[in-house]
Amino acid sequence: ALMTGEQYIESIRKMNMEIYMFGEKVENPVDNPILRPSLNSVRMTYDLAQDPQYQDLMVVTSPFTGEKINRFTHIHQSTEDLKNKVKMQRLCGQKTAACFQRCVGMDAFNAEFSTTYEIDKKYGTSYHENFKKFMNYCATNDLTVDGAMTDPKGDRSKAPHAQEDPDMYLRVVERRPDGIVVRGAKAHQTGICNSHEVIVMPTIAMGPDDKDYAVSFAVPVDTEGIFMIIGRQSCDTRKLEGSQMDVGNSEFGGVEALVVFEDVFVPNDRIFMNGEAEFAGMLVERFAGYHRQSYGGCKVGVGDVLIGAAAVAAEYNGVAKASAVKDKLIEMTHLNETLFCCGLACSTEGTATESGAYIINLLLANVCKQNVTRFPYEIVRLAEDIAGGLMVTAPSEKDFRDEKLGKYIDKYFRGVADVTTENRLKILRLIENLSLGTAAVGYRTESMHGAGSPQAQRIMIARQGNLGAKKQLAKAIAHIEE
Ligand code: SF4
Ligand code: FE
Repeated sequence: ALMTGEQYIESIRKMNMEIYMFGEKVENPVDNPILRPSLNSVRMTYDLAQDPQYQDLMVVTSPFTGEKINRFTHIHQSTEDLKNKVKMQRLCGQKTAACFQRCVGMDAFNAEFSTTYEIDKKYGTSYHENFKKFMNYCATNDLTVDGAMTDPKGDRSKAPHAQEDPDMYLRVVERRPDGIVVRGAKAHQTGICNSHEVIVMPTIAMGPDDKDYAVSFAVPVDTEGIFMIIGRQSCDTRKLEGSQMDVGNSEFGGVEALVVFEDVFVPNDRIFMNGEAEFAGMLVERFAGYHRQSYGGCKVGVGDVLIGAAAVAAEYNGVAKASAVKDKLIEMTHLNETLFCCGLACSTEGTATESGAYIINLLLANVCKQNVTRFPYEIVRLAEDIAGGLMVTAPSEKDFRDEKLGKYIDKYFRGVADVTTENRLKILRLIENLSLGTAAVGYRTESMHGAGSPQAQRIMIARQGNLGAKKQLAKAIAHIEE
């Protein structure tokens, strides 16, 4: 059954995850002030599913069990489903102004569903059944799943098996009758400490020598041998100061971690790939494709908040009517909606895989993500332009509340007379948060490198762009006969 937001929080509280931050074990991650905002972002995917207003986007009927499930645990059955996924992500981005983390599991679900089907067809294995059992378990219990792909990779010029340290890509270190033992790590794991389960996938296409590295499986995140080291975010410790104003977005955030798998046992029925190296590339390509589509939703929702914040700042500064400011807001909107167009386009042009599940158009999904590596940066640049320097030079809330200093801050940092200085500072702090504070991890650098760095999309665009056909078109028009 669907969980409420509160039930989700309590279900994570019951887990026994091994999490480290600032050199210490985090004994109570759920109530930790640095981690809690990221938990709240995932919670939004549960709260919205309870809201009658958003049922169409958030809740679907499982084609496998007939139950009502959260779309984040759904296998796309049509291009309509693919489009609704993007719309759901935009909505979640609007409500959190942060990364709500649950998409990686959804994208891993969809990549695994079709890939395991095709592995089984070739090898007569039972990975698809294994995966379906796991998937229905997660959907029925409304679990949050992390999709773990990115290995540390060591020397980028060398294949997994050729690395000096054999653990630079996660691998099978022992095969037993009842399962496998794996060792390695996954980096930049979005939302792992807010997830119930983790799906591990290979990170690159592999050859026969990389057999031990061509492994995919799922385990609960508190399985023995798994531990996480939380990554720092710019301005993260501001969250320890107890000031709502200074953090810009006090309720929501994202979180990333390095996850170490130190000889973790995986039972047979949780294995989705084990040595079928030629399918590693397919799984990677499909997962990356789905996640490149995802960014045409989530980043657009966050962009909506940033554009809104810039417009409010302009009003508070008294420049809302200036044509130059209006034009900048138009440009920001144009860029943001272009990303949405891309997310929808690769969905509309989606097709059925052999398994019946729908996949996006890979060329358009890669074009989508390539634009995401650029447009949020320009949107941020324009937001900073409109906001003015005060977004990075304003004094702290403590000074604002100080008996002696407060009245000077209030007096000298006022914009238009009918807006309080407090409100002006609040909106500027939100712009700071998204431009260069904790949320910039999700809105900027993740837009660059998340779901694959720009060059990864250019390789796919080159592969899918069909230059040969374009040359034929030109030759036909020019009456060239060779
Ligand atoms: Fe979802 Fe976007 Fe976060 Fe990826 S970056 S998990 S698509 S919100
Ligand atoms: Fe991401």
